[in-house]
Amino acid sequence: MDSRIVAVLALAAASAAQAQNFPTKPVAMVVPFAAGGPTDTLARNLGIAMGKALKQTVLVENLAGAAGNIAAARVSRASPDGYYILIHHIGMSTSPTLYRKLNYDPLTDFEYIGLVADVPMTLIARGDFPAKDFKEFLAYIKANKDKMNYANAGIGAASHLCGLLFMSTIQTAFTTVPYTGTGPAMNALLGGQVDFMCDQTTNTTGPIRSGKVKVFGVTSAKRVASLPNVPTLQEQGLKGFEVGIWHGLYAPKKTPQASVNALASALQVALRDPDLIKNLANLGTEPVAKDKATPAALHAHLKAEIAKWAPVIKAAGQYAD
Ligand code: ASP
Repeated sequence: MDSRIVAVLALAAASAAQAQNFPTKPVAMVVPFAAGGPTDTLARNLGIAMGKALKQTVLVENLAGAAGNIAAARVSRASPDGYYILIHHIGMSTSPTLYRKLNYDPLTDFEYIGLVADVPMTLIARGDFPAKDFKEFLAYIKANKDKMNYANAGIGAASHLCGLLFMSTIQTAFTTVPYTGTGPAMNALLGGQVDFMCDQTTNTTGPIRSGKVKVFGVTSAKRVASLPNVPTLQEQGLKGFEVGIWHGLYAPKKTPQASVNALASALQVALRDPDLIKNLANLGTEPVAKDKATPAALHAHLKAEIAKWAPVIKAAGQYAD
C-alpha cells in the first residue's frame, strides 16, 4: 500500500481511538457573556454536573462581546476535538438576521450537542424606583420616557429582545445602555446608574428575593414557582407578552461523532442531576426533557427559531453592523 495512504489510515485510526476515549483532559465550556450573569450561572451549574458524568473537569471560560457573537465565531473556528464547546441562547437564532455581517454560520459551522433549559425573564427596576406595582411603573416610565435608561447585554441578547418586545408592546422607546452581559448590567442597576431591565431569572432571583431590585412581572405565560408572588406581565394587561430564553450546547463542525455523542450523553445525565435540578429550580428554571437534550432536537429547534425570528426582525427594521 502507498505509504501516504497508510499514514492517512493511521491518522484516522488514531483520531477515532482518541474520540472513543473522549474526554482525556478537561473540557472548556465557553460562555459568550460576562461572568456573574445568567448564562454564566447556568454554565457553572451545568459544567459541574457534566463534569461528574464525563469524569473530567468542565471549565467555564467567559468570552464576552457583540452579544455572544465573538465567542460563537471563536468556537466555530476552534480545533474540532470536543474540548472547546459553546453554550449559547436564543441569540444564536436572532443574530443571523440582526447582524449584517456575522463571521460564523449557526447552521453550517457547528455540531449540535443538545438543548439545555428554557429560562423565564423578569422585568426589574432599581431598588429605589418610585413605583410600587406594574401599573405605577408603566405610568412613570411613560411620563418620564426621555429620562429613563434601560440596560441590556447588547444587540441580540435576551435582555435586548425582551426590551424590544416591551417597548413595542407599550409603544414607548427608551435609551438603551448596553453591557457585555447582564452580570455587569445588574451591578449598574444595583448602583442606580440605570433604571430598569428585562433579565433572566437565573440572574434576578437573588436580588429580587433580597429586595435589592424591584420586580414588576415575569415574562412567562404562567407564574414562576420560585417567585410565586410575582404576577406575569400578561396577567397585568400586556396581552400576548411571552418571552422564554432557550439555551443549547455546540461544538465546532467536524468534531468526531463519538465525542459529540459522549457530550450529549453527559448533558442528558447532567440534566437529571438532583443538585442541578435543585439549583435551577431555586433560580426559576428547569432543565429540558431528555429527548430535547439531543443533537437532532437542538438542530431542529435552531432552524425553526431562525425562521421564526427573521420576519419579526426584518419587519422591525433593526439591524446591527
Ligand atoms: N445571557 C446574557 C448574559 O449572560 C444576558 C442576555 O442575553 O441578556 O449576560
